[in-house]
This record gives sequence, C-alpha cells and structure tokens, in this order.
Amino acid sequence: MFVIGQSYVRRDLHARYGGQTQGGVSTPASYPVILLFTGEQGQQYGYQDGWTDDDAFLFGGEGQSGDMTFTRGNRAILNHAEEGKDLHLFESTRKGMVRYVGQMVCTGYEERLSPDRAGLLRKVFVFELVPVSAFISQVHVDHSLEDDHWDQPLSVLRDRALSLTLNAHDSLARKQSVRYRSGAIRVYVLKRAAGICEGCGQMAPFADCQGMPYLEPHHIRRLTDGGPDHPHWVIALCPVCHRRAHFGEDSRDFNAMLARIVQDIEASLSA
Ligand SMILES: [Zn+2]
Ligand SMILES: [Zn+2]
Repeated sequence: MFVIGQSYVRRDLHARYGGQTQGGVSTPASYPVILLFTGEQGQQYGYQDGWTDDDAFLFGGEGQSGDMTFTRGNRAILNHAEEGKDLHLFESTRKGMVRYVGQMVCTGYEERLSPDRAGLLRKVFVFELVPVSAFISQVHVDHSLEDDHWDQPLSVLRDRALSLTLNAHDSLARKQSVRYRSGAIRVYVLKRAAGICEGCGQMAPFADCQGMPYLEPHHIRRLTDGGPDHPHWVIALCPVCHRRAHFGEDSRDFNAMLARIVQDIEASLSA
C-alpha cells in the first residue's frame, strides 16, 4: 500500500483515501486505515514525538488545548485493533510532504502533564507505537508453542483475546500483552472452526505435523495478518480460501462474505 522511506504529497494521500487533511490523526471513512502524521506544527508544545530505546515510537495524541480526551482520533488509535484498522505512520519532511515510516501497532499509552501554547499544564496522551513487523506471525499456528491456550475452552480464550493491558507500565509488558492476545485469538479461531474451513465449509485438507487439522487464521479487514486482532475480524480458512482472500480477483467481495460469516458465528456463540 505504502513504501517505507518513500515521500508522498500529503494532499494526494487524502485525495486517494479521504480523511482529515490537517492535524496528526486522519481517519478515512471508506478505508480501514488510520493515517498518523508526526512532526505536524502545533503538536510540539512541551512534548516531542520520537523513537524510544525499545524501538517504539511515541506519538502525541490529538488536541491542542485543554486536557486530551479519548474521543475522535485518540479513540481511533486506541481501538484500531478492535475496529480492524491498520495504523500507518508518516513523518512530515517539508511543507506538504510526508515520508512513510511504516505500519504500526498501538501497544499502549501514557498520560502526562504538559504545557499548552499558553503555558498551562494539561493532560496529554502519548501513544506507544511498535512496528507491525515485531508481531507478524507465520500463517501456520504452531500448536506446541501455544500450549497454554489450547487447553482452554472457547469462552476463556475469548476473554483472553479481548483483554489487553494497554496501560501496563513498561513497554516490554505491553508488547508481551499484545503478543499474548494475538496468540489467544489465533488459537481461538482455530478451535472455533473445529477442523472445518469457515470460508467454504469443507474439512481442513490435511493434518499438520502435530496431527491437528490444518487451517490458517486470516484477518478479514486489515491487509496484513498478524499484529493485534479481535475475534470479530479473524476467520479460520483452508489454504485455498486464504489465498483467495488475499489474491483472488474477487477478494473484496470474498472478504465481505467472510465478514458476514464471522458475524453470524460470533452472534450464535454469544447468544
Ligand atoms: Zn476453504
Ligand atoms: Zn490472511
């Protein structure tokens, strides 16, 4: 979708995807993406975005005066996994131009006190963003690695999948929490599928080397599998359905159909 390190005219991004043309957080309505812009004027009062020693990027929330609130852009960042949206980070280089930093995952946030334009202290949110490459998992779920999850009933896995400690105090704990949740969701969908592809309804085509039916978790809405997920957006597919979902001529319609299937399954499970 975007090339890391490449420069883009910000206006062109909005012409293509929509979203707010100004400010640090842009939330296009018709695409499952959130575009973040760091280094925008006005974001810098008392606080500077940037990389930490742990390879996380600290990104100041939206709102230039008064306490920040979890509304609009800030809420969109916080809930991006639940809403099935990819976070894309850009840095402003010169007027109107931005450079693509990469796809990120929000692993948490901190509240700080910081002076505004007028020098008054106010509450700001600083989001911790980690490159999605830190979380990309293989298509195959290795059963021996997810032992802790496999023994659990669906309801427990579902709770694990939904629990995320975004306000954990250190960065490592937050990353582990995202990985843990991601693992729980992958096991959850495979157990939910019980050996039947949730796309075509056929039995898994073969057993893997641990003797388990081979199916792959697929993220319906985002372009990449891996990273934080939500049970509403993940489906267990046979390899053929999975390829179709990514590379098929009809992938858009196919994913829309998969979304309806998951919706029905989840509704019947929570009924
Ligand atoms: Zn299938
Ligand atoms: Zn996929």
